[in-house]
Amino acid sequence: MRKALRDWWQALEHLILPPVPLCGLCGEQPRLPVGACRGCLDSLAISWQGREVGGHLCFSLFPYQGYGRDLIHRMKFQRGYQIAFTLGFFLGLAAREEPALAQVDILVPVPLSPGRLEKRGFNQAALLADNIRGVWKRQVCAAAVRTRETKSQSGLSLTERKRNVQGAFALLPGFDLRKKTCLIVDDVITSGNTFSALARLIEDYGGRPMGIFAARTEISSRSDVDAEKL
Ligand SMILES: [Zn+2]
Repeated sequence: MRKALRDWWQALEHLILPPVPLCGLCGEQPRLPVGACRGCLDSLAISWQGREVGGHLCFSLFPYQGYGRDLIHRMKFQRGYQIAFTLGFFLGLAAREEPALAQVDILVPVPLSPGRLEKRGFNQAALLADNIRGVWKRQVCAAAVRTRETKSQSGLSLTERKRNVQGAFALLPGFDLRKKTCLIVDDVITSGNTFSALARLIEDYGGRPMGIFAARTEISSRSDVDAEKL
């Protein structure tokens, strides 16, 4: 009886003072309307940036270092669905406001190999794409697949990285990309070789590739090259 009374009282308290929603990144501080707390937003050092990779325009949200790097690792290796939801939400909001992306028709998440997908249980790029779509209505193409296991890009030279992902993607039948602007989605862009390999495939099918990434590293940085599609 006492427990029932306590539950009833708690329900009443929540009605009068609803629990404060917590930050989608740290899960500790009250969140702002954008979905994260002030501290996380400051630590991420968000700066929306566009750059050309192999002649295609790619956008990213924050540098892959410090807190941003920790977040990406937690999202990938600790099943950080809430982090993917929040970063996807940020990317969707940014994409929606970016005039250069207004022509985008389809989101194409970078696929994982079946082996890595089984090990990890989810593809972070696909999660990001689904959450981008939550705020920016675009079709998601799940027809891009890996045709073979590729080595981790970590520790490979730039030439080896390029060779490692060359021809590693294929498109399952049923998706028409002709004259469609296809926005490749991934968590991090490092050397850009994974992006370029998938971009080439999209071009082969008559599409126009562009890219969107949560985080970026400088192409010359070797210390951070562990990120790309581990
Ligand atoms: Zn936070």
